[in-house]
Amino acid sequence: MRYDDSPPPPESASSISPDRPWFARRPALAVALAALAPTCLAGWVLTQVLAGPASNAPQPAGAKLAASAPASAAAAGDAKASASPSAAAAPQAAAPAKGPLTGRTVVIDPGHNTGNFKHGREIDQQVDIGTNRKECDTTGTTTNSGYMEAEFSLDVSHRVRALLEAKGAKVVLTHDGDRPWGPCIDERARIGNQAAADAVVSVHADGASAGNRGFHVILPARVKGGAADTAKIVGPSRDLGERLASNFARATGSSPANYLGSGTGLVVRDDLGGLNLSTRPKVFLECGNMRDDKDAAQLTSPEWRQKAAQGIADGITGFLGG
Ligand code: ZN
Repeated sequence: MRYDDSPPPPESASSISPDRPWFARRPALAVALAALAPTCLAGWVLTQVLAGPASNAPQPAGAKLAASAPASAAAAGDAKASASPSAAAAPQAAAPAKGPLTGRTVVIDPGHNTGNFKHGREIDQQVDIGTNRKECDTTGTTTNSGYMEAEFSLDVSHRVRALLEAKGAKVVLTHDGDRPWGPCIDERARIGNQAAADAVVSVHADGASAGNRGFHVILPARVKGGAADTAKIVGPSRDLGERLASNFARATGSSPANYLGSGTGLVVRDDLGGLNLSTRPKVFLECGNMRDDKDAAQLTSPEWRQKAAQGIADGITGFLGG
């Protein structure tokens, strides 16, 4: 507030008289404002209290989960968590939820990175994808209004993580907006492999021309070469992809892509390093077309992204038998 920035008064408030110049009267103004401040604060507090329970504002799934975590930890009989005041104050330290996916590991791969635009040289480096060499990573696309695919993919991945963790899964993200660029596609595959993931989903949105609409799942082709050998993952990845497609369609109301996959929402590709180098069941999901205004209106909506995350989490849960 502006009056807080004012220089200190030249004299104490007790020396004020109506005859003094304006700057000498300012302490009186400050006193009046100071008297008002508790009223303002009380009003603000009242507003917060009234808004709290009745608020319909959308709340991120992670926030709900975090808010409920201490209670569930206590309910689970975690003596350490319930006895320690610091554990109660730090929900992220609470024990993971127990549920149908306890003991399962899911790797979620948020496609691209918002920093890739600024690191062209690094992401253009060629990496070995077994069958070929390919760029480390790409920038991804954006909507016509500039919402980045990399922002979208990370947001949806956070929502999926919260939903799966609530069912007891261990969820690993290949990155969490915590590095300036990348990771490279070979490292993204390696993270899934090293985590011994039961399922891996790479989250994307497409950049096709306007009028092309809908989602599609990309399944690994059978490839062999160098470090790439998908023989063991082609079957389970198709199962994962089919469950993902049907649950995604149900949860979002979106249709399978009208521009590829012959209306099945499924496409097989042999040129993606993230799939070729995976030794774990893995698919890519292109959630919609960022360059189509109707699809973009969905992709930019937090409510729609929550539905998308629900569809993805349900598909993974079905695949894992949870
Ligand atoms: Zn992408």
